[in-house]
Amino acid sequence: MKGMVLKEFGKPLAYEEVPDPKPGPREALVESKANGLCATDLKLVDGLIKSAPLPLMLGHENAGVVVETGSEVDSVQPGDRVVVVAKQTCGGCRMCRVGHEEMCLNTPGRMGMEIDGGFGQYVAVPERNLVKVEEHVPLSGASLIGGTLASPLHAIRMARVGLGETVVLFGLGGLGLHALQLLTNLGAKVIGVDVKPEALQKARELGAVETINAATDDPVDSVLQMTDGIGADVALEIVGGAAVPPVLQQCLDLLSPGGRLIILGYHYGQTFPIDPAQLVYKWIQIIASHNHTVRDVRDAASLVNTGRVKPIIANLAPMQEANDAMNHLRAGDPIGRIVLEW
Ligand SMILES: [Zn+2]
Ligand SMILES: [Zn+2]
Repeated sequence: MKGMVLKEFGKPLAYEEVPDPKPGPREALVESKANGLCATDLKLVDGLIKSAPLPLMLGHENAGVVVETGSEVDSVQPGDRVVVVAKQTCGGCRMCRVGHEEMCLNTPGRMGMEIDGGFGQYVAVPERNLVKVEEHVPLSGASLIGGTLASPLHAIRMARVGLGETVVLFGLGGLGLHALQLLTNLGAKVIGVDVKPEALQKARELGAVETINAATDDPVDSVLQMTDGIGADVALEIVGGAAVPPVLQQCLDLLSPGGRLIILGYHYGQTFPIDPAQLVYKWIQIIASHNHTVRDVRDAASLVNTGRVKPIIANLAPMQEANDAMNHLRAGDPIGRIVLEW
């Protein structure tokens, strides 16, 4: 088969012939059809994710079609259209057994990060890591169910966001526009913050009640004005990069007493000083999260199957153009996700 292979950190991926994967008895062979491209892929290429071995095929936001199944597989069959849950889990460790497989203590790794992912034409995937999607959902959109939807879904669940709560969402990039739709489905009142007018416009189309352009307006003052001086119930940070420390401080400043800060965006080495007195005297909770469970993916798939959440695709590109697509992503966050198709 063919694959786009990361052979050296900081260098373009190479399109070349690679060995076909062989599914084990409890695995299915999935023909990779679509892969969402995200900032994590850039971190992988840059060598910032130290667990990544080389050579590696990226592709942790992957959807495809089952073409072959191992002898012990019974929940999927050839022809099924599936989302791949990237993180492989042991199923037996303490965290897996209490329903937190996203925190698996014996993980073999994540497909597309420590194990070859959907940048190869075929992927051998454990049966437990497959979630079916309905016929009418294009696989390009389905590829966003795994990481782009399920990861914010997991974080929002951890923060127990509820009906009518005010949520300030910082960062309306690929992840942010999907988190926004999850929050509006929960009945939250979302205030979107970004520095790009097009992103703010898209957020309003997708249900943001208010938006703030942080390039021209102070988010803290604006949110306090919008909430009668009380502040927001929840602040969700998905900005990433150098903006993380100042945005986290703004989040703490604009939360109401009892507010929750959810951290999803990060950049290695970007630290942030916390005044514990501010946390204590405002009863603030900080929730940080990455990854998701199979259940999160299943529920995200249900939201897409029923049309309640729309995958937002910035543009589709052939897999062979992955290097150009990464440059495009690096140059400035597109509106929605770039999806690479085999
Ligand atoms: Zn991702
Ligand atoms: Zn485990």
